[in-house]
Amino acid sequence: MVSKLKNSRIDINSLIGVSSIDFNHTHQALDKINLGDQFTVIPPFTGNGMTMAFEAGMLAVEPVVAYASEKQSWSKTVNSVNHLMRRNFRLRLLTSRLIHPWFYTPFLQHILSNLNRNHLLPFQILYKLLH
Ligand SMILES: Cc1cc2nc3c(=O)[nH]c(=O)nc-3n(C[C@H](O)[C@H](O)[C@H](O)COP(=O)(O)OP(=O)(O)OC[C@H]3O[C@@H](n4cnc5c(N)ncnc54)[C@H](O)[C@@H]3O)c2cc1C
Repeated sequence: MVSKLKNSRIDINSLIGVSSIDFNHTHQALDKINLGDQFTVIPPFTGNGMTMAFEAGMLAVEPVVAYASEKQSWSKTVNSVNHLMRRNFRLRLLTSRLIHPWFYTPFLQHILSNLNRNHLLPFQILYKLLH
């Protein structure tokens, strides 16, 4: 193996960069509205990324209409959209961020697998928490 690596050449044209995704961060700007993945990225096993982007759009409609009708300032509009998204997404983000490491850590995978084999995973409760 080492000899194979020693004799190898790097093909510069094959280099590719893949950026990592931070599932534990929420971006709340003070001067602009961040929706969808710009607000936060939920761990992929939930299959919830697109829904959250659409839901965030729906949540933003009322405050943005109020701003467009000159009923409230831009800063208040940004604050209310951020508040609505925090309130609506808090539980599913918290739950998914707690569960996510169980899929990637061998020790936790083992426990998860055993729980599943013995029908001890509360799927219905988890589904409710994540939707
Ligand atoms: C491989 C993969 C698989 C996925 N599978 C699922 C799944 O099964 N189910 C699920 O729910 N979610 C899934 N997701 C997540 C989901 O795709 C995203 O969470 C969702 O698309 C976020 O929507 P968005 O509108 O925030 O961003 P996007 O869908 O990324 O839309 C942003 C748009 O803005 C455009 N844009 C960016 N910069 C500019 C600019 N300066 N000017 C103009 N336009 C710009 C981009 O081209 C893009 O079209 C997956 C994501 C990936 C990467």
